[in-house]
Amino acid sequence: MNKDRKLIIAGNWKMNKTVAEALDLVHGLKRELASVKEVDVVVCPPFTALSEVSRAILDSNIRLGAQNMSEHSGGAYTGEIAAVMLKEFSVRYVVLGHSERRQYQKESNALIAAKAAAALTAALKPIICIGETLQEREAGATEKVLEGQLRGSLASLNKDQMEEAILAYEPVWAIGTGKNATADQAQAAHAFIRRTLAGMFDEPTARRARIQYGGSVKPANARELMRQPDVDGALVGGASLELRSFSDIVKNSI
Ligand code: PEP
Repeated sequence: MNKDRKLIIAGNWKMNKTVAEALDLVHGLKRELASVKEVDVVVCPPFTALSEVSRAILDSNIRLGAQNMSEHSGGAYTGEIAAVMLKEFSVRYVVLGHSERRQYQKESNALIAAKAAAALTAALKPIICIGETLQEREAGATEKVLEGQLRGSLASLNKDQMEEAILAYEPVWAIGTGKNATADQAQAAHAFIRRTLAGMFDEPTARRARIQYGGSVKPANARELMRQPDVDGALVGGASLELRSFSDIVKNSI
């Protein structure tokens, strides 16, 4: 249980928003969330908008995240972005191993572990995503899948690095479907993740670990989900693209 720490509510904009649209949204968020101190709010625009968004949020309590990065520090990797390049725009967080990347780019746990190590070396906080498919849940394999992803994706991390990392439990069947995990399902998965972390690291590390829930978080379900003792924040996709819904999620989470 970890409610002595601030919640982190992060918006994953995926492949959405031109620079102009991104700026429009962050200017609105700055206005709406100016007085919010209880939650760390992070926006994760596409790479192309990082520079402008970074400038726009300088004088605000909103922090910047990227949606992916390379495991390499630089060199002949066409189309890739290194951690040091993200740091130029004051990026503090980076989403790693999102299920869309696991599915479409075939990212493996080993690759995600390498990216997490590279992120931490550059003092970026990785938000490492794990989660089961519907088929795996229906086969009763949720815990087995989560444990495999945890052991694989965190393989490169020591205890100190785990303190800087963030986990996002994102059941694949809940992402972009409008069908969120119930508060009970989210709590059960988060408690399992925390127990597994205790085995992999130790009890204090597991207690302090930040575990976000992601999957169709909306203003209407945010309060109930964030109230769960092992839920330490949210990773929000679709509902973070729109000013009203994202700011209501943040306000409802307090
Ligand atoms: C996500 O993409 O990380 C996500 C949780 O999406 P959505 O909120 O749209 O389900």
